[in-house]
Amino acid sequence: MSKLHFKYGTMNSGKSIDLMRTAHNYEEVGYDVIVMKPIIDTKGNDKLDSRIGIQRKVDILIKEDDMILKLIKNKITEKTACIFVDEAQFLKEKQIDELFFITKKLNIPVICYGLRTNFKAESFEGSKRLLEIAEELEELPTLCDCKEIARFVGRKVNNQYVLEGNEIEIDGDNENIEYIPLCGKCYLEKVKKIKF
Ligand SMILES: [Zn+2]
Repeated sequence: MSKLHFKYGTMNSGKSIDLMRTAHNYEEVGYDVIVMKPIIDTKGNDKLDSRIGIQRKVDILIKEDDMILKLIKNKITEKTACIFVDEAQFLKEKQIDELFFITKKLNIPVICYGLRTNFKAESFEGSKRLLEIAEELEELPTLCDCKEIARFVGRKVNNQYVLEGNEIEIDGDNENIEYIPLCGKCYLEKVKKIKF
């Protein structure tokens, strides 16, 4: 039986690259895939972007109140082998529940990619649900500047780390905002201003 997967990592951990590579693997051997992402991410509109320049068009953009089962209904073919979701942290709890249902109802695996936590080190709604119910969890690692594994993300506004602000501020929309992958110690030191 197909499973719900959650591949999580902080910023710059290659989530979109992994998605595009895995999707390509299916297509290369003649299968179809469906690639979705929530509409809230305006970084690439209906495209997936990666830092190394590869792009891919998204088949379905998901709105906050969309029923995913309805969205995919006309896109599923006999050759559909996998459903991919980028930026899955932004989905609603009930949409994650729906993806879980889809893996069992249609027997098609769903692979979600996303951030585990926001810049305050708290779960996003979608990630929280995925950590609760995904049957396969995989961390995509990236490195902090100090060479430790980065599992946190810091938000910089005008080059200063902040702990206040809305959960969702997409970098690129506001050129003063950037996101930095950080290890636990650097997160405490740089963002929480804790001295060791
Ligand atoms: Zn560090």
